[in-house]
Amino acid sequence: MQNDSELAVELLMNALRVRTPRKVREKQRAMIQAGQCILEGCCDQYESHGLCKKHVNKFHYEFKKIWLKRGQKAAIEYRNRRTREGTYLVNQDQRELARESA
Ligand SMILES: [Zn+2]
Repeated sequence: MQNDSELAVELLMNALRVRTPRKVREKQRAMIQAGQCILEGCCDQYESHGLCKKHVNKFHYEFKKIWLKRGQKAAIEYRNRRTREGTYLVNQDQRELARESA
């Protein structure tokens, strides 16, 4: 049984291990620099986390649903998986991709 601070440390360590493959990252950079949502086939303008308003709302809905049904850890793992596969950006990455040149 973990206490809250042990869980927090584990989740942080997991988040730090999340790496998006380079090829995916280059694709994200092109989408962000064009001002577009990073999801395949979506041409809407990105707002936050590299996603358009519709897709970021959908992400938050899923995240909350998982948190309520399966707990905080499962929700963070979902977010890490989305980050790794390139369908969600932490906001710091969105900022970096927006200003870096390729
Ligand atoms: Zn979108």
